[in-house]
Amino acid sequence: MKIKCPKCDEGAELASDFSVVRCEHCNLDMSYGEYVKFVAHNVAKYSDILGDYSGSTEGESAGTLDEWD
Ligand SMILES: [Zn+2]
Repeated sequence: MKIKCPKCDEGAELASDFSVVRCEHCNLDMSYGEYVKFVAHNVAKYSDILGDYSGSTEGESAGTLDEWD
């Protein structure tokens, strides 16, 4: 099934048995367990950027996002 790639935001492919996630756009290739951790890590990071936890981190957001390219 198609899912959103956590790395490049293009369409990635999740195997029907949930064993592996692959993205042909950025060569992402990881197990589903790793994918879940990867996404959870990203969500935590975005939440931090948005200031949900720390109040104000706006000045750091641009540099942090750039690191994913
Ligand atoms: Zn990708």
